[in-house]
Amino acid sequence: MTPIPYLDLRAPYMELRVELDAAILGVLDAGTYILGEEVESFEREYAEYIGVKHCIGVANGLEALVLALQARGIGAGDEVLVPSNTYIATWLAVSAVGARPVPVEPEEDTMNMDPGLMEAAITSRTRAVIPVHLYGLPARMDLIGEIAARHGLFVLEDAAQSHGASIGGRRTGAWGHAAAHSFYPTKNLGAFGDAGAVTTDDDDLAARLRLLRNYGSPRKYIHDVKGGNSRLDPMQAAVLRVKLKVLDEWNERRSSLAALYLEALRDCPGLRVPVASEGMTHVWHIFAVRHEQRDALQAKLAGAGIGTLIHYPVPPHLSGAYRE
Ligand SMILES: *Cc1c(COP(=O)(O)O)cnc(C)c1O
Repeated sequence: MTPIPYLDLRAPYMELRVELDAAILGVLDAGTYILGEEVESFEREYAEYIGVKHCIGVANGLEALVLALQARGIGAGDEVLVPSNTYIATWLAVSAVGARPVPVEPEEDTMNMDPGLMEAAITSRTRAVIPVHLYGLPARMDLIGEIAARHGLFVLEDAAQSHGASIGGRRTGAWGHAAAHSFYPTKNLGAFGDAGAVTTDDDDLAARLRLLRNYGSPRKYIHDVKGGNSRLDPMQAAVLRVKLKVLDEWNERRSSLAALYLEALRDCPGLRVPVASEGMTHVWHIFAVRHEQRDALQAKLAGAGIGTLIHYPVPPHLSGAYRE
């Protein structure tokens, strides 16, 4: 039997090889290697795709989270609500600005942040909440947004795993005050290296983000704030523009494969398959199942040549990074 790897990053490249090669060569030919037209075009196209006014291309998904928190003025003494089950980047962004990540447990069925537990975790120091659309399934943004509004919290979506997902037709990345996107190669919309973006409808926040990602500089050698260097690479922007055109089609493919799995795995003893809540479009970044004998199941699949991964073997609060 042909082995089935967890993920083959070369396959999508081969499928779009002609267009991708042309896009990369186009950047080399144009002679602009930092920011410029390619980045601006991607920002325009991605903002339109998500359904927001602004997209600010940055270096990676972690930076997108960090800069959004920084642009909002969140820092020392502040508490930020995060899912206890997420990739550690969500937590590290909060720590990077000097604030404290406060974990909220997930709902059993969707594996996303539980809105009731979120509200219970709010204190007088809570300034923001970062819901993650884990595995490609949107978090309950209507409820989370409503609770956040009542407590005056900044809502920053971590949309790293949910490109194209939506709730009632409105895409993830368009629900919070801002959203962080990662284009890490394995994501549904993946670059050929590191890349990320922030989307927002807030004009002021967008302007601050543009300064922060580029040395605080509105014009060459003029520096208004102490910014950093976190720019989206034009080569990656060119790649992302090609892949954005097929994102919906590729998500559809994931969706039909997921439907096959869901049908075939029905009534499988001890196995819990993912649940797509009503009105939500799951984009199946990861088809995550739970099983009472997880490690034995993984070993059995490996024996059959089927690659799997544990997402995630150690939750952030039990990792060495959060020993304290
Ligand atoms: C991938 C990912 C990130 C970080 O993205 P990078 O581009 O690798 O920095 C953040 N949050 C979640 C949930 C992710 O899956």
